Amino acid sequence: MPDPAVNHLLASLPSKDRLHMIAGCEEVEHVVSEVLFEPGDRLRHVHFPTTVLLSLATPIDGSNGIEVGLVGDEGMVGTPLALGIAITPLQALVQRSGASLRMGAAPFRHALGHRPALRQLLDRYLFVRMTQLAQAAGCTRYHLVEARLARWLLMTQDRAHSNAMHITHEFLALMLGVRRAGVTKAAISLQRRGLIRYSRGDIEILDRPGLEAAACACYRVDRAIYRRVLGSLDGTARRATHPASPLSTAGSGGRATRPLARSSAAGSRGGPSP
Ligand SMILES: [Zn+2]
Repeated sequence: MPDPAVNHLLASLPSKDRLHMIAGCEEVEHVVSEVLFEPGDRLRHVHFPTTVLLSLATPIDGSNGIEVGLVGDEGMVGTPLALGIAITPLQALVQRSGASLRMGAAPFRHALGHRPALRQLLDRYLFVRMTQLAQAAGCTRYHLVEARLARWLLMTQDRAHSNAMHITHEFLALMLGVRRAGVTKAAISLQRRGLIRYSRGDIEILDRPGLEAAACACYRVDRAIYRRVLGSLDGTARRATHPASPLSTAGSGGRATRPLARSSAAGSRGGPSP
C-alpha cells in the first residue's frame, strides 16, 4: 500500500531535490468543503496532496460550474505558478479531508528555476493535466451519467486509497454537472448491478472490476497517459518511465519523510456543504 504521507510527484524527484522541496513545505490539514482558492484568486501557495482529495471546478455562467479535475497524492494544485502565472481560473474544493504539503509561491518559483529535475517533472505533469482536461471535455459532452459516475468513483478510490467514501447526491451532481435526479438514477443502477452500496451519502465500492467495466473509457485513458508520462500509480514505481525522460534514471524512488512544520490551513474559507 502506498505510504499516505507520500506525494507521488515529490517522491519521483531525485533525493536531493525531494528533500529540498519537503524541507520547504509545511504540512497543512484540510477539512471537507474547504475552498483553497476561487477563480481569479492570487495563488500564494502550491499544494502537494498527501491524503487530501481536491476537486478543481470551473465556473459556468456564474454558477458553481463543473468539476474539471480531481487531484490527490498523484498530483499538485497551484499549477499556474509553474507557468509563471499567479492567478488561478479554477476553484479548488476539498472533497475528502486530509493533508497536503504546502509551499509558498516564491520558494516554489525559485526551486523551479534552480532544479532542472523539478522543472522537467512538472512540465510533464502539466502535459498530463492538459490531456486530462481535454478528456474531461469530451467525457462531459458524450458519455452517459452512469458511466461517468463509475469513472468518478474509481478516480476517487484511486486517490483516497479506500473502498468507502462519503459523498452526497448534491455534491456528486455538482461534480458531474448534472441534476440530482440524474445522479440518483445512475447510483441506483450501479447499486442494482451489485457494483456499489449507497446509503445517505456513504458509498462503498463492492466490485472494482465490475465498476471498471461500467466506467467510460476516459478512466483508462487518463490512467494510461499518467503512467506513460509520469510512471506507475501503484505505489511501487514512482519515477517517470518514458525512455527519453531524464527523470527515468533520476531519483531514488524512496519515500518522502514527513515535514517538520505543521500548521492549520490559514486563510482558507468555508465552502458549501456537500
Ligand atoms: Zn468519459
